[in-house]
Order: sequence, then structure tokens, then C-alpha cells
Amino acid sequence: MHVEDILNKTRSGDVPSKDDLVFLLSMPPDSVDTYMVMAEAARISKELSGRKAEVHAQFALNLAPCSGDCLFCSFAKVNDVFHEATELSAEEAVAYARQFEDDGANAVFMMSTAGYPFERFIEVSEEVRKNLKPETTMVANVGDQSLLHARRLKDAGFAGVYHALRLREGTDSTLSAEKRKRSIRNFLEAGLEVGTCVEPVGPEHTNEELAEMIEFTASFNPAFSGAARRIPIPGTEMAKRGVISELRMAQIVAVTRLGMPRTVMGNCTHEPCTLGAIAGANLFWAEVGANPRDVEEKTEEGRGGTVGRCRTLYQESDWDVWDGPSRYYNKG
Ligand code: SF4
Repeated sequence: MHVEDILNKTRSGDVPSKDDLVFLLSMPPDSVDTYMVMAEAARISKELSGRKAEVHAQFALNLAPCSGDCLFCSFAKVNDVFHEATELSAEEAVAYARQFEDDGANAVFMMSTAGYPFERFIEVSEEVRKNLKPETTMVANVGDQSLLHARRLKDAGFAGVYHALRLREGTDSTLSAEKRKRSIRNFLEAGLEVGTCVEPVGPEHTNEELAEMIEFTASFNPAFSGAARRIPIPGTEMAKRGVISELRMAQIVAVTRLGMPRTVMGNCTHEPCTLGAIAGANLFWAEVGANPRDVEEKTEEGRGGTVGRCRTLYQESDWDVWDGPSRYYNKG
């Protein structure tokens, strides 16, 4: 098998097979062939998005030890990072959302931990919606939901959700992989666009596992797919497994782009970096407040980047940034 054959296949609009994806993922990240894959992925991303990347921005409605116990998450009870539960008032949530809108974020994401009451989430969301411009795209990042709840999110003014079947779901988390998949179906049925990602990638994940997850994300024609590496939470068991390099993450971002049909315009990575952008990531996130990859209560004082920082990274990577509501979530 040759990388050129796979690239020729993708140039004619075909999606590579699982074996092709494994082959591409198996190449050394610093090889000429991987750089060719990254260049081709960036070319496709730029063609699909008119050379304009998007910056979405997320804040968390609450911070609480979470019984979901995903080993990679700083909110997980088992990781013993946060002990107090705190939550934003509706006024604080509105202020965060309006700040993102003023900063020019293409979508405003509202996140909560799995145990946050759904009714409260809807109540605060409705307040936020009322205080944003009608055209501003709102996205929910919440736990698994029934079809009824998915419809309530749509009625509350969300254009879509972020939802991922995480790598080794059910082994490295207490959540059920089946339930994650069912939630994705529920969101889609309710008319919500679903953005997703191959995450959180660590050094222990095999190329077969990554290829399978790429294919899974492609299977439901998401608003965007992409790849994100796992950020070690200091002092946790999972931190001992280590972290992949930004270059390896960029390789996976590029292979994920090639593994998507052309109907998927978005390709994300997190955390934002120029290597991801040059490998075809046309979506970065800014973050404020609580963040599951951070041990700071306010991630803007820790790992979180601003909308301005994400825009700068794009400019440094020769990307323009889209001005206006997210095209990935408003396919219309
Ligand atoms: S990822 Fe979500 S469900 Fe898992 S521990 Fe963190 S907040 Fe809870």
C-alpha cells in the first residue's frame, strides 16, 4: 500500500477504508508521508470551509465532583481534584455568553457535568438565549439524554450539541457506550446537529482503535469530527499513561479529515495549536470557567485559551477566520 494511492482515492472524493486509515496512522508522525497527509487534509478543510476556520467558545454552568468518573476528567470523583460543587447564576451565564458573542465566537457552548439538573440547564439556557442575538449559534455539551430531553434542548434554542463516544468508553469511564450512541441518535432525531471528536487520545490507543472511532464518527454525518489528545490531570492514575505529542495529534487530526465524507465541513482539535491548524483543523475552542482538563477552577487562569488567542493561532497558520454564525452547526 502507498500513501499516494490513498491520497488519490480521497482526491476523487472516496473515503479511505479502515485498513487505509490504520496504514496512515501507522506512519511515523515526522515522516514526509505524514506531512503529505497533513497537507492534503488541510487542502480539503480549506476547500470545504472557503479557507475560513471557526472558533467556538465554551463555558461550564457548574463545577462539581462527578460520579461519571471518566478517568481522564478533572471533575471525576475518583480523581479527587474538586471537592466543592459550585454553579453559575443565570446572570453570570449570560455575561459569559455575551462576552463570547462580543469576542466574535462563531458558536457559544454551554457545558455541565452529567449530574447537573436538566431542568436547571434548560432554565439558564433560555435566559442566555433571550440575551443573545437571534443569529448567535448556541450548542449544548451535556450528558446522555432521552429523545424528549433532546427535543427540549432544540426548543430552548440550541442549534446542536457536542457529544462523543470516547475512546474506551465504559472501561476508562463508568458510562455506557450504548447509551452514548443512543443519545447521539436522539439528538439527531430531535433535529440537533451533533459535533463530535476522536478523544481523548493517549499513547496506549492502537491505530485500529483510532481508525474504528474515526469510522464511527463518520457514520452519523456530524457537524464536525476531529481529534483531541488527552491532557494528563496531575496526580491521577491516568496521568501515568502519558501524553501524545502535538505532532502525533496533528497526524490523527489529518487522518480523521481524510476519513470523513465531504458532507462534513468541520474538523476540530483541542487544545488549539498551529500544528493542528496546518494538519487541517478548522475548528478550535476557547474556554472559560470550569474545564474538565484543568485543575484550576477558572481555566482562563490555567489552560484555557481566549477567542483572540485561537484567532491568532489561525493567523499564524495561514488560515482566515469565519465571521458570523457557525456554518458547521447551521447546515440548513
Ligand atoms: S467527562 Fe463528564 S461524565 Fe465524565 S466525569 Fe467528567 S463531567 Fe462527569
